[in-house]
Amino acid sequence: MQPDVMRRLIDAASEVIITHAEQLTALDRAIGDGDHGANMARGFKEIAAQKDAIGALPLGQALQKAGMTLVLKVGGASGPLYGSLLMDMGKAVAAEELSLADAADMLDAGIAAVKRRGKAETGEKTMLDVLCPVAETLRRASLDGDVETVGTRMVSAAAHGLHRTSYMKATKGRASFLGERSIGHLDPGACSSALLVGAVVSVLEAQGQPT
Ligand code: ADP
Ligand code: MG
Repeated sequence: MQPDVMRRLIDAASEVIITHAEQLTALDRAIGDGDHGANMARGFKEIAAQKDAIGALPLGQALQKAGMTLVLKVGGASGPLYGSLLMDMGKAVAAEELSLADAADMLDAGIAAVKRRGKAETGEKTMLDVLCPVAETLRRASLDGDVETVGTRMVSAAAHGLHRTSYMKATKGRASFLGERSIGHLDPGACSSALLVGAVVSVLEAQGQPT
């Protein structure tokens, strides 16, 4: 990865979470306890505060440190889940310069950790309903070698995944307490995942272009 890309990723991810904290909280108020925006903003503010330290590390260590920060700062269900995602992605880093296949392997490793920790699968109205279709899109792009449109396809997969959560009944996390009444609402964690995917893709697409 080029120098400074991690810093730009941190800027973009923390900005998108902080500017959408109210929206995330509103979604969580409808089917949870109304803290998802505040939880995520707390975690990403801390990551932003450590931007120089994290940005100076090799990719794998940087992701692990960011993940640990989320575990420590976010709290709730989502802190350990997002923390596991980033920590296991970090442990799976194959090289500093990742191929699409390496990136797909890394994301798959992170998602496996989320599934293990949350004892969840897709279709349960969680962040996995965004992360899994995004990972499948990345894997397909790595097989067909389509670097040009991979970013757009990942963002589109994230948006569709988020949209589909509205029709799902939650069977994991606090929203599961609502049963059928969780239907008709977007999942807050799926929304934060879709926002983060968009932020990451926009930074990586701009990589190499003058800023
Ligand atoms: P809490 O539910 O403890 O208040 P947050 O509000 O920060 O935590 O996060 C809620 C989000 O976490 C949900 O919208 C959902 O996407 C995700 N989530 C909750 N439980 C699980 C789980 N078991 N597996 C995957 N994701 C989950
Ligand atoms: Mg909550």
